[in-house]
Amino acid sequence: MKIALFSSKPYDQEYFEKYNIDYQFDFTFFETPLNPHTANLTKGFDAICTFVNDQLDAKTMSVLAENNIKLIAVRCAGFNNVDLEAAKAHDIKVTRVPAYSPEAIAEHALALILTLNRKTHKAYNRVREGNFSLNKLIGFNLSNKTIGVVGTGKIGAAFCKVLSGFGCEILAYDVYPSEALKEQGVKYVSVEELFKVSDIISLHCPLLESTKHIINKESLALMKDGVMIINTSRGALIDTAAVIEGLSQNKIGYLGIDVYEQEENLFYKDLSESIIHDDFILRLNSFPNVLITSHQAFFTKEAMFEITTTTLENIKAFKNGEELVNEVN
Ligand code: NAD
Repeated sequence: MKIALFSSKPYDQEYFEKYNIDYQFDFTFFETPLNPHTANLTKGFDAICTFVNDQLDAKTMSVLAENNIKLIAVRCAGFNNVDLEAAKAHDIKVTRVPAYSPEAIAEHALALILTLNRKTHKAYNRVREGNFSLNKLIGFNLSNKTIGVVGTGKIGAAFCKVLSGFGCEILAYDVYPSEALKEQGVKYVSVEELFKVSDIISLHCPLLESTKHIINKESLALMKDGVMIINTSRGALIDTAAVIEGLSQNKIGYLGIDVYEQEENLFYKDLSESIIHDDFILRLNSFPNVLITSHQAFFTKEAMFEITTTTLENIKAFKNGEELVNEVN
């Protein structure tokens, strides 16, 4: 079976080549992302393997159909970049990796919180330059703070578990509250209440019409002054312009983001010698209390193993005509 893997990075190739030994699929690794302009590269392949910023819209989908692609094996959990209606119309199956390591993302959210709060990134640079001053490095205890978790699926639940060790009060909002989390002491409240009383708000819901720009001018107005906002979910959960305004007015005390609305033009690329034509990211980077990582929350050895082996199993099930347990429809 011939598979074109898009948005390939050296670590993707390393993991897929290592574990493909047991499957013997014929992989070709394309560094380029998949979009309507690159879709023709799929000619001669049976299936494709894509990642978070590949553009699987109706246009791409019709080229895939012309090229006889029968399977899109998405190697991540989110599938907001896939036009499922178009895939269905062309009878192209879509599989994903629903849960590779929720702890990887939950732990990265914690890393953002602790780095922003205790300013270890600044302390590291200072000490290396012989500056041992503590001026402006003051943080706050997490103990007894109120943490608001929006979305308590696999990652949100793992995040609640991680945070419970810090002695925080954990509030949550989800359209489907979890009885198990309630038993562990998580208190479900309305999203408005969560915004009003939380010291730290962490987003773990998927990007849907109902969640797009859930952090906006109106929701920011409800929040405590100096609130910390963490987004490791999807960039468009945040209205970036509103957040920049909130940072300028000291409404937002700290912002930690692993995802960004326009990330497909920036993330996973080395642009250190380029002119960046994205005024929002440049403005965000200008704030001392903003920490941005380049969609790396998933990036642990454990998660890469799960992503690779589950994707290979998804392709194998398709090839053998078995039930596609991880099909998205
Ligand atoms: P999940 O499906 O297990 O959980 C999502 C939860 O959100 C569910 O409990 C659902 O009921 C809830 N939800 C749906 N609509 C909601 C709404 N309007 N308001 C509040 N909650 C709502 O998904 P998951 O595995 O926990 O992943 C969550 C998100 O994390 C994914 O959608 C993906 O976008 C993101 N993610 C990011 C990375 C990364 O590397 N940064 C990696 C994996 C996943």
